[in-house]
Amino acid sequence: MKDLVLVTGISGYIARHVAHILLSRGYQVRGTVRSIAKADGVKKDLADAGTDVSHLSFIEADLESDDNWSEAVKDCAYIQHIASPFPLEQPSDREALVPAARAGAQRVLAAGFAQNVKRVVMTSSMVSMMGKPGKGPTMDVTEDDWTQPSWRPLTAYAVSKTKAELSAWEYAKVQGFEDKLTVINPGLVLGPAIGTSFGASLHLIEQMFAGELPRAPKVAYPIVDVRDVAELHVEAMLKQKSKGRRLIAASNTLWLKDIAAILRQNFPEKAKKTPKGEIPNFVVRMVSLFDDRIKAVVADLGVFHTADTSYVTNITGVNFRPAEESIIDTAQFLIDCNRL
Ligand code: NAP
Repeated sequence: MKDLVLVTGISGYIARHVAHILLSRGYQVRGTVRSIAKADGVKKDLADAGTDVSHLSFIEADLESDDNWSEAVKDCAYIQHIASPFPLEQPSDREALVPAARAGAQRVLAAGFAQNVKRVVMTSSMVSMMGKPGKGPTMDVTEDDWTQPSWRPLTAYAVSKTKAELSAWEYAKVQGFEDKLTVINPGLVLGPAIGTSFGASLHLIEQMFAGELPRAPKVAYPIVDVRDVAELHVEAMLKQKSKGRRLIAASNTLWLKDIAAILRQNFPEKAKKTPKGEIPNFVVRMVSLFDDRIKAVVADLGVFHTADTSYVTNITGVNFRPAEESIIDTAQFLIDCNRL
């Protein structure tokens, strides 16, 4: 029997895939859920996906409370800290998500270091790297880039991810455990979910199919497949060279209008309402003054963000499949579960 791994937020889109890989490789997995009522559904979805769930257990723990974290990490060799608030709509209070994200990460790290775990892998985001003024029309995002949390256009989500990651590194350094921490920084995560309960990122594809975006804001994100992100979490946990590193999880970058074009080309009947053109940037900026959904893209408007992830492949052996494949598989998944 292999080691026990704690997976926080196991009900989530990415965490389910991480649990699937860990269990398939013979690890024991303990997943945290905010409500134990979710446990049976997660277990069933994983079993339906062909995962052997005989070594899967659950424990209730909320990032906003101290309760249960020491029990959660008990006997664990590794922690996959994936839980964090990822709301569909951005709160207008920029600090609203910080307590759960930052203090939550501190709770998980403190409990893990006290238990002397071998490694904590924490899911951050490329949003903790991309948010700064004066980006110009292209930005090649690197491991050394840091979002400036005080930059006004940032969303509450970006502020929370940046502050959580900054404080995780700071805490690990102060405690002398920097080499026990590895951070994963994914771009926009797409690809099939396990079960029909999934987070905010697939909503973008649903919105496009539904015609909620008749024209697309001019934004471009590096895309990454959820199956590759999950594999990266597991490989990062095991590789010596990933200690103390920020690993960007990203494949190629596409403008939103190009994502729409891929959907129309591959699903001509279903994708008729996907956006066909772009909204001029000045219109997006104007609308963002009273529409919080549009406000969420202002920080990235007009910027083609890219990332060279060859260092990640060198360290972990993980390759990222092309974005086109993830987009097509996402749409097919949504069709198969009658969401489109
Ligand atoms: P998701 O499906 O919404 O999963 C988020 C998970 O976090 C859920 O299990 C949720 O539990 C849990 N959670 C939220 N607030 C919590 C709290 N206060 N206490 C305990 N658990 C809490 O989102 P996801 O896409 O899988 O995202 C997972 C991680 O990847 C997040 O850290 C996110 O920031 C990061 N990420 C995602 C993307 C992307 O495009 N999807 C890109 C970059 C980074 P409940 O089920 O109880 O709500």
